[in-house]
Amino acid sequence: MDVVTDIDEMRLVSERKRAEGKTVGFVPTMGAVHEGHLSLVRRARELSDFVVVSIFVNPTQFSPGEDFRKYPRDLESDARAIESVGADLIFAPESRDMYPGGYATYIIVENLTKELCGHSRPTHFRGVTTVVAKLFAIVNPHMAVFGQKDAQQVAVVKRMVRDLNIPVTIEVSPVVREPDGLAMSSRNRYLTPEQRSSATVLYRSLCLAADSVASGVTSSNDIIRKVRSTIRKTDGAKIDYVYIVDPDEISHVERIGENALLAVAVWFGKTRLIDNIVLHGKKG
Ligand code: AMP
Repeated sequence: MDVVTDIDEMRLVSERKRAEGKTVGFVPTMGAVHEGHLSLVRRARELSDFVVVSIFVNPTQFSPGEDFRKYPRDLESDARAIESVGADLIFAPESRDMYPGGYATYIIVENLTKELCGHSRPTHFRGVTTVVAKLFAIVNPHMAVFGQKDAQQVAVVKRMVRDLNIPVTIEVSPVVREPDGLAMSSRNRYLTPEQRSSATVLYRSLCLAADSVASGVTSSNDIIRKVRSTIRKTDGAKIDYVYIVDPDEISHVERIGENALLAVAVWFGKTRLIDNIVLHGKKG
């Protein structure tokens, strides 16, 4: 598996592929690769000729006190997994090259970043949009694949690309789950066996909500109350948020219409997990 760490070399490879008439697909990740990441790589493989996967634990999207230092890093095993699903190249830049001394430029998407994860992680999305814009500028892909697992990130990246006229098509891939429904996440490995078993409440509560909507409930507050009470009954689970929002605007909705995003964030000990589902109410 080709691993490029140099920014200029990455730029050159992409330029060459474009000159050959190939389309470049891109999957940005922070490594600690699991089936969720691999599903995005497979999607990029289907949709483009040359597939680049970046592995970069981006310091600017972590706040002080978060898990930046202990975030799992294992380039060799990540590379094996990424190769097995047919990617062409891994781009793994160094932090000192991405953020050289005197680094001063950030991209901020307003409004959409205030709610949900914006409450407890106020500088997170500024780090995400900045690194994604930088990676787009270096890799220069035709398209990039992001996971619905991070639904607010999808809305924010789509808005950035639209607002800044960045010529990259954003493709969104569904949430990949463990057999018991827990959304795959690099952070699941932090969980103790007890926390791991409690964490199944996330998807269970999302499914209960979807069932309620299917049976005709349209009040966001009613759904939120039900989800909160289900999670509260679970050992060791501490709610960060449960919200129902418009999936594109990330603004609260009172009545569940055609598409409403139910998003949850819950602490299990020191590990914070997020999950979401799109609720489909009745049309009109
Ligand atoms: P990360 O390495 O956590 O920054 O994630 C890299 C990409 O993988 C993001 O677009 C995530 O949304 C996506 N991703 C992470 N977990 C999953 C999952 N369980 N299913 C689908 N996509 C995922």
